[in-house]
Amino acid sequence: MKYCINCKQTVQPAKSGFNVIAFIILLCLGCCPGVIYILYHVLKTERCPMCNSINWGVQPIMEPVQQQVVKGIFCPNCGTRINEEHDYCVGCGRKV
Ligand SMILES: [Zn+2]
Ligand SMILES: [Zn+2]
Repeated sequence: MKYCINCKQTVQPAKSGFNVIAFIILLCLGCCPGVIYILYHVLKTERCPMCNSINWGVQPIMEPVQQQVVKGIFCPNCGTRINEEHDYCVGCGRKV
């Protein structure tokens, strides 16, 4: 998996399938074209399947989303925050 800067996401780089028939034909022509074909295939640049670019980069480290843990509960009557220790709403006196 690589990170595409264009798409701003990690994608599986697209690689065209290894053409076995072309490889055999090249091997019939001689050893060298076949070897060149393998080298060409191996060295061929991987492209983004989404935007077809080669704009690979490093995925920016995601800032962890600060989860604000809301302590206590809220009064269903007036919406005042009530500490868990309290049984009654400090705003309206309703029992919670
Ligand atoms: Zn892309
Ligand atoms: Zn209340």
